Amino acid sequence: MPAHPNLQHFRTTDFWFADGNIILLVQDVAFKVHRGQLVRHSDIFHDMFSLPQPVADMVDGCPWVQLHDDPGDVLHLLRALYDGLYFTKPTSGDFCAVSAVLRLSTKYLIEHLRLRCLVRLEADWPTTLGGWDSREHQVTAGTRYCPREQFPHPILVVQLCQELGLDNILPSALYDLSRYGPRKIAAGATTVPALLSRRSRAIALADPIDPKSVIVRLDLPDLQAVFRGREHGQRFLAAFIEQELSGRSISENCANQHHANGHYCRESYYFIMLNLLRAVGGIATGRDADPLFSLLQAVEMLSRTDFSDGTRHCGLKICASCKEDFSLAVAKARQDAWDQIPTWFGLQAKATNYLARIVAAKPRV
Ligand SMILES: [Zn+2]
Repeated sequence: MPAHPNLQHFRTTDFWFADGNIILLVQDVAFKVHRGQLVRHSDIFHDMFSLPQPVADMVDGCPWVQLHDDPGDVLHLLRALYDGLYFTKPTSGDFCAVSAVLRLSTKYLIEHLRLRCLVRLEADWPTTLGGWDSREHQVTAGTRYCPREQFPHPILVVQLCQELGLDNILPSALYDLSRYGPRKIAAGATTVPALLSRRSRAIALADPIDPKSVIVRLDLPDLQAVFRGREHGQRFLAAFIEQELSGRSISENCANQHHANGHYCRESYYFIMLNLLRAVGGIATGRDADPLFSLLQAVEMLSRTDFSDGTRHCGLKICASCKEDFSLAVAKARQDAWDQIPTWFGLQAKATNYLARIVAAKPRV
């Protein structure tokens, strides 16, 4: 324990209750809160506050403890404990509260808050292909794809996953990041220091353009893993084109098989192939190296009617049977791709049991 603290050296916030009965000292910030409110949700706080403290050592008439956390994180935790943690309209700014509360609810074993944060994170960084598709759908308005309004930069999420051992969320965060061009991936994320853990803040770089912002970059091994994953994704799509589109046979029940040996359906496959080839180089949509998206587009081409034959709008003349046949091939490929993502980013070897690690972790107070 440090020497008897002098409150004049501490800042306070709105978490300074006149009828509070425990003082938390966190770096240069003091919180006067209610022991029962904290003890009710955390055995760690219960044990911490049960240590007897001499009356002479009280501060503002209360016992006190020093927490080795970030004051901003503690403020978010107290808000969540006193006011609840709600995300009515999810935005990328929620990451500040989610990461802070997750960090401390993990450390202080506050299960209901930890679960709420994990549910929110998994909604944004899904662990299933269905979840991923619905996430992508949510942030697509027409042809406009605007993920950053709702989700924080994936580098921030990757770092949080690594810090807290969230191995299940890491693959979708890495996949999301790998869809950027290499230059953008290497450039890192520009963000405000409040969104970072102390560890990340310590290694963040000053932003030469905006003094209020910092730049967070992946370290070299992680950067290499992202580039490797990106290459795997591109190779996957190239292999799909080779195996499923190049010279694809018409389906067994092709309705066009008696007309020029299924010419319309073969021509449709060829058209889809040409479009996918554009996507391999990331020039079709500006979304580089996103096999899940490109494959979805391939299926959507089957029912689009906005192609042009030079004089009017039209759709592909592929028959229903070939459509179904190809749709099934794409669905299987997308699931295969999703299942392979952890391998693409070299994650298998690192996978550990998250719950076991949490139980084993000793709180540092
Ligand atoms: Zn056909």
